[in-house]
Amino acid sequence: MAKHNFNAGPCVLPKQAIEAAIEAIRDFDNTGIGILEISHRTPGWERVMAEVEQLWRDLLNIPEEYAIFFLGGGASTQFFEVPANLLKTKAAYLQTGVWAKKAVKEAKFYGEVEVVASSEDKTYNYIPKNYTIPTDADYFHITTNNTIYGTEIHEDIDSPVTLVADMSSDIMSRPVDIKKYGMIYGGAQKNVGPAGVTFVIIRKDLLGQSGRKLQTMVDYATHYPEEARNHSMFNTPPVFPIFVMYQTLKWVKEIGGVEEMYRRNKEKAALLYDEIDRNSMFVGTAAKEDRSLMNVCFVMAPGKEDLQDEFMAFAKERGMVGIKGHRSVGGFRASIYNACPKESVEALVATMKEFEALHTK
Ligand SMILES: *Cc1c(COP(=O)(O)O)cnc(C)c1O
Repeated sequence: MAKHNFNAGPCVLPKQAIEAAIEAIRDFDNTGIGILEISHRTPGWERVMAEVEQLWRDLLNIPEEYAIFFLGGGASTQFFEVPANLLKTKAAYLQTGVWAKKAVKEAKFYGEVEVVASSEDKTYNYIPKNYTIPTDADYFHITTNNTIYGTEIHEDIDSPVTLVADMSSDIMSRPVDIKKYGMIYGGAQKNVGPAGVTFVIIRKDLLGQSGRKLQTMVDYATHYPEEARNHSMFNTPPVFPIFVMYQTLKWVKEIGGVEEMYRRNKEKAALLYDEIDRNSMFVGTAAKEDRSLMNVCFVMAPGKEDLQDEFMAFAKERGMVGIKGHRSVGGFRASIYNACPKESVEALVATMKEFEALHTK
């Protein structure tokens, strides 16, 4: 039976990226040697590095004043590398979920942290709206998509201070006005590749400005020296995850870029949210205006709670994988990232309809 992969991360990747990765393990770039065994200093690899940087620039319209590089350690490592590099005296954070809360915790190692607003009071089921960004903060940190709760900041907000965004779970899902941000980072494993590589996009004038003595690897300036061929190559980069990311971005470009991705994502999300709102068995958990295009969270409708396990088994029998909600929210979460095909969403919607029919006859 065909599987429909709704895992929250790592998650579904484009088929053609997987095929290219399998081929590259056998033979990279017609060298007769597989990608897991080549040196990262070979010309073929240096070309991939240059092309992957260019793909990022083309797909997201990243201007020349911004550096882009790739690291290990996941988004979680950036939770402390961001303040190490950017926090001089004080930083401001919007606390929209546990990822944001973890970022707050790490920032406190480096200075004063002001949480301008938090939605923890309601299990992070909405995005706080009326808050003031302190103008004396070195930066303001947001999490654009809250993977666990299914809420998303849909606009590029205006900030009077440097805006820093964790875009782990919605990067490349919609066009972004890069110039509104000082820095954007995230783990690749939700929308742009497999686990093992982290992307950092940062305005070059923010490099080397912390006034703090930093360990070489922690200092962002290390990873983007002026000579173009050495970006992300201070030490051995995560070669294989970067290769799969490269293939994933080539696919995004081929289907029509981030604009087309956004159109597809809105279409998929509408299909599923419309069904949740229509179907008497289920209710959505996130505030409607803040609903994420990437992670769709829902629970059994009031009075139907005891059918939760039954629906889980029913869906599993029909090939649905990874729809169990995070333990802090319960119920179900369907992650419908870029590479999740519309057919999978249609299959889930059909399953929900079938389940309702079974229980309302
Ligand atoms: C998954 C996720 C993280 C954690 O990423 P790691 O790469 O596993 O450290 C951080 N922030 C958000 C928004 C996420 O979805």
